[in-house]
Amino acid sequence: MTTTQTTEQTPDDETAHTSALETARRQLDNAATHVDLDRGIIERLKHPSRVVEVSIPLERDDGEVEVFTGYRAQHDDVRGPYKGGLRYHPDVTAEECIGLSMWMTWKCAVMDLPFGGGKGGVVVNPKYLSVDEKERLTRRFAEEIRDEVGAKQDIPAPDMGTDAKTMAWFMDAYSMQQGETVPGVVTGKPPVVGGSYGREEAPGRSVAIIAREAMAYYGKNIKESTVAVQGYGSVGANAARLLDEWGATIVAISDVNGAIYDDTGLDAQTVPSHKEDPEGVLNHDAPETLTNVELLELDVDVVIPAAVGNVITTRNVDQIQADIVVEGSNGPTTADADDVLADRGVCVVPDILANAGGVTVSYFEWLQDINHRQWSRERVVSELESEMVSAWDSVKAEVEESSLRWREAAYVVALKRIGAAIEARGLWP
Ligand code: GLU
Repeated sequence: MTTTQTTEQTPDDETAHTSALETARRQLDNAATHVDLDRGIIERLKHPSRVVEVSIPLERDDGEVEVFTGYRAQHDDVRGPYKGGLRYHPDVTAEECIGLSMWMTWKCAVMDLPFGGGKGGVVVNPKYLSVDEKERLTRRFAEEIRDEVGAKQDIPAPDMGTDAKTMAWFMDAYSMQQGETVPGVVTGKPPVVGGSYGREEAPGRSVAIIAREAMAYYGKNIKESTVAVQGYGSVGANAARLLDEWGATIVAISDVNGAIYDDTGLDAQTVPSHKEDPEGVLNHDAPETLTNVELLELDVDVVIPAAVGNVITTRNVDQIQADIVVEGSNGPTTADADDVLADRGVCVVPDILANAGGVTVSYFEWLQDINHRQWSRERVVSELESEMVSAWDSVKAEVEESSLRWREAAYVVALKRIGAAIEARGLWP
């Protein structure tokens, strides 16, 4: 079943965690068949530059010391510093971090951001940590990976189980050791310490923008379209609220506990997000409740899986009735299910494009930090809008030129940019 967290990205639960890496490699192999690139470049991209594993001793509030394991995977930095989130979740593994770091490489390239891909995390269930424990864990983790990160080297951000506060602690711990304030070492910070306005809602905003573009592309009037959203964390809630504002009918919304359904439309603005009230979705007034599985199978124009990975699999793919799937979470569709949907002509807009608003506003935040100048929220919203539409247009051009499915086209756009950079720089020594 799904779980929604207080943060923007969510993990796999239904299949083994190795699948993030397996899926990422398989997607790369598939995309490689459509790009004229040296085999050696593709082989290189199947492996991370490095993966660091650290032990993090934490003094619990009762005085006991517990040791946690943390990772930072750095996949590729040919286009710029490694970039990607830190997740706190019991299922974090080195392999999962590698797979997710590969997705960050493609995500940054498809958005044409001057970053490569990284991902890290701590094997811990943050629900069982007090705020003080989470702070101590974060500070010690920051210290353990201090040599790996840096504003020009590798820039973490929030992911599942971490948030703006976590980033503020991370930035503070790093800065104390450097002897100067280095806001650009992480993104997703609170605006008061160099964070960007609009960063928290950015992944959900990009999902909404991409869903809007996809509806228009397939000749659907947004005001006559129905949408189901699985997961009501930051991504799902922000996407649903914007689409609702733009006139779409949000017929179903779910969180970890289940879904609410109203074929005449739910008021997404008043359904509390997971952060606002963890029990809020099912407590909200609605004529019907559904399971999370049933929500995905609704006959809607657009379904947005924005909870965990691997929710559209060979087990349920035949029941998916939506015309358009917009991936809000990272990796919600398995590679096999993706093939089935493509054969049926269902448009699946991949995570690396749809939820890329998060890392795009992270880029804006990094620019603000290194230039010591904060942007207004309006500027962030308008620049994100144009970056998303321009990335959509690049992928659309590839779809039209090469008759590829959306995921393949997004990978091809990313791979061409990465391949060109690798070729230009060359292999050393
Ligand atoms: N964790 C987010 C993602 O998966 C954002 C990464 C970032 O902002 O660096 O895209």
